[in-house]
Amino acid sequence: MKKYLYGKTLNELQILVENFNQKKFVAKQIAEWLYKKDITKIEDMTNLSKSFREELAKEYSVGLQPYIKVLTSKDGTKKYLFQYSDDVFVEAVSIFDKERVTLCISTQAGCKMNCDFCATGKQGFQRNLTTNEILNIFRSIDEFSSIKNIVYMGMGEPLDNYAEVKKSLEILCSDYGYGFSPHRITVSTAGFLPLLEKFLTETEVDVAISLHNPIPEERQKIMPIEKAYPIEKTIRILKHFDWTKQRHLTFEYIVFDSLNNEPKHVNALAKLLNGLPCRINLIPFNTMPNTIYKGVTIEQMSNFKNLLNKKGILTTIRVSKGQDIMAACGLLSTKNKNNS
Ligand code: SAH
Repeated sequence: MKKYLYGKTLNELQILVENFNQKKFVAKQIAEWLYKKDITKIEDMTNLSKSFREELAKEYSVGLQPYIKVLTSKDGTKKYLFQYSDDVFVEAVSIFDKERVTLCISTQAGCKMNCDFCATGKQGFQRNLTTNEILNIFRSIDEFSSIKNIVYMGMGEPLDNYAEVKKSLEILCSDYGYGFSPHRITVSTAGFLPLLEKFLTETEVDVAISLHNPIPEERQKIMPIEKAYPIEKTIRILKHFDWTKQRHLTFEYIVFDSLNNEPKHVNALAKLLNGLPCRINLIPFNTMPNTIYKGVTIEQMSNFKNLLNKKGILTTIRVSKGQDIMAACGLLSTKNKNNS
């Protein structure tokens, strides 16, 4: 098995070329071929010496892998399936808004968070994806050249795969890589505390926190992570952070029938988020097989939104797409590959 070049940071490429007795600047040339000129074969890196290319190709390949399946929803949303080893399947979703494409990317095969309402959580955890595998999703989908936004909201908990996620963000945002503005990327986390502060300091991307209930005892019933990493601690960390720059903070909030949309929740949310520049994004519950949870009507959703707005909390409603192909939030699962 050859090792892969695609997904390596500039620093990693520098170490690699030095091991081949090449000058440091050669790493920059390789990065350009990989991330700007989009080549797929080492032999196409024509400004490297032929002998070096031959040496390199003995141990390495570019390492791009095509998707194995794509489904298209009646609203245009596309769900891709990648196979990364015998039993590791990963999904990702392209969401279209006129010419703008938002890619919902995955960071783990499965997830350890086990949120009770999420199909990915219910499939358990297989393994972390490598930087190569995360970015291969971005590079290999049909819409690669028209991707405007990337949301790390697919399978997995991004902060539970910190090193690989961080490298993928570096390659997406840096000059030697794809040159994406960090404000076109949002990383969503259930509130994985051990790495939250580090993540906020080391990256500049927008942040989304899966809140879903401001009352700790109630949140814990639907999100086991609340027990180890309480939302109140998460908020404390967020409040210490400077949000006055361009960076956006969003709280995701699935509105469940009779569970988290009462006046007491509005009050608790106002108290919890007081003083934090942020917005709440209400998400319709995307139902899945064998679930005890129920969503609400559009009217109930709007009522809840108005109550929050009246309390001074900027609140929006997320349009959910791709339900018919199980591509909407929380429905990604590769447990039954026939559905994928
Ligand atoms: N682990 C990360 C990314 C998860 S998916 C996180 O927890 O933030 C992105 C969003 O979809 C999360 O807010 C998640 O809570 C939400 N979600 C999960 N299951 C859902 C469902 N069945 N319907 C609607 N949203 C869901």
